[in-house]
Amino acid sequence: MSFTLPALPYATNALEPHIDTKTMEIHHGKHHQAYVTNLNAALEGNEWASKSIEDILANVSTLSPAVRNNGGGHYNHSMFWQILGPGKGGTPTGMIGDAINGSFGSFDSFKEALTKAGMTRFGSGWAWLSKDASGKLFISSTPNQDNPLMDVAELKGNPILGVDVWEHAYYLNYQNRRADYLAAFFNVINWDAVAARL
Ligand code: MN
Repeated sequence: MSFTLPALPYATNALEPHIDTKTMEIHHGKHHQAYVTNLNAALEGNEWASKSIEDILANVSTLSPAVRNNGGGHYNHSMFWQILGPGKGGTPTGMIGDAINGSFGSFDSFKEALTKAGMTRFGSGWAWLSKDASGKLFISSTPNQDNPLMDVAELKGNPILGVDVWEHAYYLNYQNRRADYLAAFFNVINWDAVAARL
């Protein structure tokens, strides 16, 4: 069995004006598709080809750099499309709101910390909100297509929200203004989807 590109759960123009149509088309249809294609090629004839992506990432140090880069790319983007949504954003309530307030003091403190993690990631990578083994939430950032599920991650946990800070995620609309992209990201977070991952 090989990995496949998941369909977007909304139209490519659904996140306008925060994330533009052209960026969504290229990001999902070209970048994510390339991670899937290259992951399948890297796993061809390998016993790991039949394992789940989570299993692969948890043992990624024993596999090739191509599996790390493309397996991470496939997992990260599959999660990213799910935790975005049109007309979303705002301050989360319920279980996820309580968990964020409990871990970071307030939603504003959380927002500031996640933005800082994204802004201080030099070059390409991701900023994450994850749950550690004890159930506590933490923020981290990883280079390239790494993520907190990988055995090579500095801080390990279960990612419940991630934001892509590769230039391909924002350059067409925001050019070098990563801060503006990160501010816009908060307007399209699907908190119900994040809560479901908690
Ligand atoms: Mn990306």
